[in-house]
Amino acid sequence: MSRVLAVVLALFSTAAAAQQFPTKNLNMLVPYAAGGPTDTVARVTAQAMGKPLGQTVIVENRPSAGGILAPEQVKNARPDGYTILIHHIGMATTPALYRNLRFKPLEDFEPIGLINDVPMTIIANDKVPAKDFKEFLTYLKANKDKVSYANAGIGAASHLCGMLFMSAIQTDFLTVPYKGTAPAMNDLLGGQVTFMCDQTTNTTSQIKSGKVKAYAVTSAKRVPSLPDIPTLREVGVKGAEVGIWHGLYAPKGTPKPVIDKLVSSLQEALKDETVRKRFADLGAETYPPSQQNPAALQKHLKAEMDKWGPLIKKAGVYAD
Ligand code: ASP
Repeated sequence: MSRVLAVVLALFSTAAAAQQFPTKNLNMLVPYAAGGPTDTVARVTAQAMGKPLGQTVIVENRPSAGGILAPEQVKNARPDGYTILIHHIGMATTPALYRNLRFKPLEDFEPIGLINDVPMTIIANDKVPAKDFKEFLTYLKANKDKVSYANAGIGAASHLCGMLFMSAIQTDFLTVPYKGTAPAMNDLLGGQVTFMCDQTTNTTSQIKSGKVKAYAVTSAKRVPSLPDIPTLREVGVKGAEVGIWHGLYAPKGTPKPVIDKLVSSLQEALKDETVRKRFADLGAETYPPSQQNPAALQKHLKAEMDKWGPLIKKAGVYAD
């Protein structure tokens, strides 16, 4: 067979495979530990996308401190749509935090769409005696040498929130990094660490059952599913507002017909009433259909990189 014919046939079979996509299960890589907030959003989304795709979307956790491993693995995966990435705001903050990051968020991926926005909560273990935020602040300042703050490593949402919070109250604490806030929550429940900032997707049930104490939410408005918890602004803490948005990505070079199918299945999944209700019960707000697409995700990612990059660089924090 001539080389030209071989190339034409190869192109033809790639195009045919893209048209038939998907003919087998997909893998959705999650940058943090199983049982945590990013994992929860991943599992709800993956299950709902499975229906319109007609295949199972298998969630695979690739935990690493700061969540930098999963994006690198998806960047290097075959660009055929069978390996996709779910990530949160960390996709926008890690470039400013790691000098040697091995992926470029805006260049190495095909964006699929925005999923939802999740507020964070400032929570402490139940041995902390403070009844409200004012008492909690007094407690933190009085015990600053004993207090520890759990996060999911540099670049995680919990790191960003902690950094903003510590700077707003002008007090630093010993920081304990984990590979996700699921293991951090275990240690918080066990009393090994004092407090953390984590998405409502991971904290709502622990707050409602009284296993942890909640002092504030990081959103501009109170969270409907946790109406008794004040916002940071209400309690007088400025500059620590942060929302954790989630997006879906495929490796750069994934064929357009494949991306189109992934986009339409994400949109179908997010239309599902049970998905929207599950997210709302966990304090998450699903993005409107106009944002559940590649252009909106790419625009948001760039805006968030432009927003957080200079602030992080000014703080002079680097992971490597
Ligand atoms: N909440 C974590 C973070 O701080 C991530 C996770 O475990 O899902 O980014």
